Amino acid sequence: MRLDKFICKSTELSRNEAKKLLKTGDVKVNGEVAKDPAMQVHENNSITIDGHELVARSSRYIMLHKVAETICSNVDEIYPSVLHFIDVDKAFDLHIAGRLDADTTGLVLITDDGRWSHNVISPKKQCPKVYRVWLRDEIMADELPGLVEHFKAGIQLQGEANLTRPAVLQQVDTDEVLLTITEGKYHQVKRMFAAVGNRVVGLHRESIGNVKLADLAPGEWRYLSEQEIAQFK
Ligand code: URA
Repeated sequence: MRLDKFICKSTELSRNEAKKLLKTGDVKVNGEVAKDPAMQVHENNSITIDGHELVARSSRYIMLHKVAETICSNVDEIYPSVLHFIDVDKAFDLHIAGRLDADTTGLVLITDDGRWSHNVISPKKQCPKVYRVWLRDEIMADELPGLVEHFKAGIQLQGEANLTRPAVLQQVDTDEVLLTITEGKYHQVKRMFAAVGNRVVGLHRESIGNVKLADLAPGEWRYLSEQEIAQFK
């Protein structure tokens, strides 16, 4: 990780304050003065400020039940960032592992461990994500088997070179389905249904891997268990 980030993580300093501190020459990495904020360090380096050794705070792993009209980025644009809901120290040093649209609700994973979030979202890891989808047009009984096959075989999304990976479609009601996908292309679920001539009118993420939203109330968050964290290590 970058040296300025390591300093932030292990002190109360902000990123800018860490950069200013580095300019003073008071920071040493393995006994040598270090001034470059971008220098790459890891936890078994000895990093000192005025001779005091820093100990990196352990990473944080959180799940949130996102409500509609919030956004999964650190900056507030039209809607507030979901990070406003996480009442922990330095919440804005965290980032979201797999974004949801502003109007989508449900499970969001939040961390400061970049490698972990990469594993959550990397298509190579094929982590299953389950969405509850409400549709504009009902799916009739005679259409269902063909649609299930189509989602399993892969959907051609506009502007994409490859078909989507096999997805599992399960009907809950005529206008409500559960869809399991193992990748996360931009607006993927909405585009998949648009590609088959339907329209998503409501979208809610229920699980990511073995992390299930279960009865966590809208707007609430909790730390993940060791077992939930371990699957993406
Ligand atoms: N697919 C979408 O279209 N939107 C989301 O928010 C998540 C998945």
